[in-house]
Amino acid sequence: MDAQRFIIIAIDGGAASGKSSTSRGLRDRFSLLRVDTGSFYRSITLTLLNADIEPKSDQNLADALEGLKLETIIENGDAMISIDGWIPDESIRSERVNHHVSEYAALPEVRKRLLEYQRNQVQVAKANGFAGMIMEGRDIGSVIFPEADVKLYLQADPEARALRRAKEGIVDSMTKRDRIDSTRKNAPLMRPEGSILIDSSHMTLDEVIEEAGKHIEAVLKRD
Ligand code: C5P
Repeated sequence: MDAQRFIIIAIDGGAASGKSSTSRGLRDRFSLLRVDTGSFYRSITLTLLNADIEPKSDQNLADALEGLKLETIIENGDAMISIDGWIPDESIRSERVNHHVSEYAALPEVRKRLLEYQRNQVQVAKANGFAGMIMEGRDIGSVIFPEADVKLYLQADPEARALRRAKEGIVDSMTKRDRIDSTRKNAPLMRPEGSILIDSSHMTLDEVIEEAGKHIEAVLKRD
C-alpha cells in the first residue's frame, strides 16, 4: 500500500463555534499538526497593544509589523507562534485582547504579514513528520488553503456559544467580534465554497469529532 499522503484540513467558524476542541480531537485521531491561527492574530494584537501601536493603517503599523521575527515552536502537536523570541501564554486570551483583536485582524497589513507564515506551517508539519495539518481560523478554507482536502465550517447558536464561554470563565465580546470579522473587506469570516457545515449546538464534542472524522476518512480512503 502507498504511504498515506499529507492532508490539509481547514476548519473555520465564528467565536466559540467549537473549532478548537474539534481540531484538538482531530489532531490526536489523525496525527496532525494543529495550527490555531486565532492565536497568531491574538499574539500580534497583544504585541501591538504593548507597543502602543494603534489599530490603523499607517507607517507606524507597517514598521512595527515588518520588524517582527516570526518563528514556530511545536508543543504537544500544536504550532505555537514565537514573536521576537516571545512565546505567547494565556495573556492572549484576556479580556483586553478579546476586545481589540478583531480591529487589528481587519487591517490588511496585519493579514498580509501572517499570510505566508500561515501557509508555511505545511512545511513545518512535513519537516516534523506529521501526517497532515489541521488549521483553524476564519479564512482558512476561503483564502489561506482554498484547495484544502477537507473544509469544515462549524456553527452553533448564540445560547450554546455563550454557555461555552461561561464554562471556560472567559469574558468575550463574541457578537462584536463576529460582526467585525464577517463584515470586514479583507478575508471576512464566511462559509467557504465546498465546505462541510456542522452545527454543533446540540451535539456533544465526540459527535462533532465523529462527524468531521468521517469526511477525513473518506478522503484518505479515496487516495
Ligand atoms: O479563533 P479566535 O477566536 O481565537 O480568533 C481571535 C480573532 O482573530 C478573531 O475574532 C478574528 O478577529 C481573528 N482571526 C482572523 N482570521 C483568522 C483567525 C482569527 O481574523 N484566520
